[in-house]
Amino acid sequence: MLTAIVGINWGDEGKGRMVDLLSEEQDIVVRYQGGNNAGHTVINNKGKFILNLLPSGILRPEVTCVMGNGMVIDIEHLVHEIEKLREAGIAISPANLKISDKAIICPPYDVACDKLEEARLGDKKFGSTNRGIAPVYGDKYMKKGIRMGDLLHMDYLKERLANILEYKNLTITKIYNAPGYTMDDMISWFETYGAPLRDYIVDTTAFLDEANKAGKRIMFEAQLGALRDIDFGIYPYTSSSNVIAAYAPIGAGVPHLKIDRSLGIMKAYSTCVGEGPFTVEMFGEEAETLRAAGGEYGAATGRPRRVGGFDVVASKYGVLCQGADELALTKLDVLSCMDKIPVCVAYDINGKKVDLFPSGEALNQAKPVYEYLEGWQCDISQAKKLEDLPKQAIDYIKFIEKAVNCPIRYVSVGPDRDAYLTMF
Ligand code: GDP
Repeated sequence: MLTAIVGINWGDEGKGRMVDLLSEEQDIVVRYQGGNNAGHTVINNKGKFILNLLPSGILRPEVTCVMGNGMVIDIEHLVHEIEKLREAGIAISPANLKISDKAIICPPYDVACDKLEEARLGDKKFGSTNRGIAPVYGDKYMKKGIRMGDLLHMDYLKERLANILEYKNLTITKIYNAPGYTMDDMISWFETYGAPLRDYIVDTTAFLDEANKAGKRIMFEAQLGALRDIDFGIYPYTSSSNVIAAYAPIGAGVPHLKIDRSLGIMKAYSTCVGEGPFTVEMFGEEAETLRAAGGEYGAATGRPRRVGGFDVVASKYGVLCQGADELALTKLDVLSCMDKIPVCVAYDINGKKVDLFPSGEALNQAKPVYEYLEGWQCDISQAKKLEDLPKQAIDYIKFIEKAVNCPIRYVSVGPDRDAYLTMF
């Protein structure tokens, strides 16, 4: 059984907590794309954890976690993330963590290139998290990437690095006028942070194929949401990888397998980090109230997130791109702070009402068309079943379910592991 847990919106929907919750029913959890540019926040009986690279299943000792070939891995960050979790009492060993030999390493020179390019762009910047993700995916497709498996063959790694570094240093010194990197420093970096990870590096295709044949339950965990997909998202304000469920088998290392169930995680309102079109954006006091109620500050960067009402047009498109079979509606409790709740039911583009999510300049010009739903203005965080919710909250769920035309199975009403209810 292969399940994908994916984001319907711009990311930060609460995927981490749903993976943490649902990984109870899984044998293996796989991250299939992205790097440490986003964070999953998980709160459970062991504490509060921010996971940037490790799959959220790592918090359950009986689950095996896999970091797939579609990922880009800053090994320095990973070594520190593992150390921190160990300090918090989480056991991590080659028995419960497998890293693909084909995953690309994100070295310091790519982090530098990311920062230098954002600085060059000035007020036209993308709002990158400055973790090197765009340059390292660029390297991958330019065939200038160094892979995790290369850490097992340092002579080969050094040979490739010499060529790559020459090219990278030309970029850094000649284009950006910044200091380059020496071979000695880089070899020492690969040695220092590669050594503790060597035992974790395996052929994850063979591992997952065998696991699947043995009937193991495998879950694919996405980072970010459909609207950040490099192909289908709000390009160029997207991430640099494919985040959609259809990519999961590829980025996990099992391109020959098909997903049985795509569970879309969809937030009860909208948030967006970084630049780019965000049609439903709220400003001023209204935005402050919602941001504070939802604790909407980036898990990886601490940046305040842009916030807005639920966007039916964007979410319906997200459901389509993710091939979602069912949904989890998260953070419904946050809307307790609102009296009337705005829901964007269509876009107005130059006087034309549109309900298909546009791209490019048409999206830039879109204005929200709102309907207002009654708020409930009471604490719903203790609700354990649908009947515990006030009528207005049930109406809100039903309205959204109908609007995006996909069944909502779970509704979360608080950050804790058991703060949720099931609809069926
Ligand atoms: P992810 O990247 O999709 O996992 O999302 P993030 O971790 O960036 O953001 C989700 C945040 O919302 C985390 O701080 C969670 O602890 C929190 N959260 C998740 N579900 C709920 C919920 O139902 N209610 C509230 N109030 N917070 C939630």
